[in-house]
Amino acid sequence: MPLKTNDPSKSSWLPVPENSDFPIQNIPFGVFLTRDDVITIGTRIGDHAIDLGALHQLGYFKDIPLTDDIFLQDSLNDFISDGKKTWRLVRSRISELFEKGNPELQKNKDHQKIVLFTMDEIEMQLPVHIGDYTDFYSSKEHATNVGKMFRDPEHALLPNWLHLPVGYHGRSSTIIPSGTPVRRPHGQTLPKGADTPVFGPSRLLDFELEMAFITTDANALGEPISVVEAEDYIFGLVLFNDWSARDLQKWEYVPLGPFLGKNFASSISPWIVTLDALEPFRMASPKQDPEPLPYLKQKGNNSFDIHLEVDITPQNGPATTVSKSNFKYMYWTMAQQLAHHTINGCKVNSGDMMGSGTISGATPDSFGSMLELSWQGTKPVHLANGTTRKFIEDNDTVTMRGHCYKNGVRIGFGEVSTKILPAISLK
Ligand code: MN
Repeated sequence: MPLKTNDPSKSSWLPVPENSDFPIQNIPFGVFLTRDDVITIGTRIGDHAIDLGALHQLGYFKDIPLTDDIFLQDSLNDFISDGKKTWRLVRSRISELFEKGNPELQKNKDHQKIVLFTMDEIEMQLPVHIGDYTDFYSSKEHATNVGKMFRDPEHALLPNWLHLPVGYHGRSSTIIPSGTPVRRPHGQTLPKGADTPVFGPSRLLDFELEMAFITTDANALGEPISVVEAEDYIFGLVLFNDWSARDLQKWEYVPLGPFLGKNFASSISPWIVTLDALEPFRMASPKQDPEPLPYLKQKGNNSFDIHLEVDITPQNGPATTVSKSNFKYMYWTMAQQLAHHTINGCKVNSGDMMGSGTISGATPDSFGSMLELSWQGTKPVHLANGTTRKFIEDNDTVTMRGHCYKNGVRIGFGEVSTKILPAISLK
């Protein structure tokens, strides 16, 4: 059944600029600090942030079973834990309240003064307390490119890759919101031809164009989540830049996988766009051959058409778009990732985050990392200011954006933008 909140003909009495990522059909969730230094849960329409804590206190959610303080929190974890039925009721009520023609709040200027903020009056925070973070490796094009460069061009994909969504457990303590700068990390690297490592700032600092989904608490310890039900436990998605130090990574990753080359920072966009909002943009995922084992087998359309792009902006600009990719290129779906993650009985909690892995398309302009775009530094990427990049340099800002478009409706994620600062000096 189509959701009323997705109706393309709906419009809001709040202004929505043309090409905004946040029309009334989006209604994402986030956490922000208000002009009065109060932290609250909110949503966004056009360029207005809406304080859901204040709306709830004013009685606008009185017909929905919610605890009094559900939105007066510094994370969405408890709200996400309330489950899909509640997410839908709240989104549908917000949609109704801000729809053109509904006078309830539109006519109440005093209430508007309390609940509405312009974007420059607030500061976006991390939307969830991320207990656990897992990163997958689910783009076939990306895994093939990396396999060709690091191993054997003839056998680029390892034998397990086509049978399971490969992943590793990452570190949640260094996941940061858009706008937080990142210092170039130090570490051990093995210079070409050397047999002992050197220590210093990473020279091959890279972004990874990813998306990440956020789960609700779905299962008891020991109980898998079936692939058929998995999407019911996904709250929504964010843009995800999984910063990577390729030189550290290459030296350290054998035999246990990613470690310090990955855990110094990962940046996310601050608004979580719900799966419900993305529903109109659902589409088929790539055909899987060989057929997956029964616990991973899916029917129907299990991916989403989300346009993604990456800009590099040097210190004095201007920006250059270096990659255009799409979430639809993912070989393994989110439902398959979650089903596989829990098939051994691993418990998933509210606010857990699962990264897709770098999302690369088939053509060189759709690769999702500098490692691939510059083909390990052999093909420098040209920027609009006349300089070139093999990897990311100090004072570069990397910005990722994502949006869907269909039937005149654009639903987007805003952006995740991060400036790289020089390494700290170690004594
Ligand atoms: Mn990654």
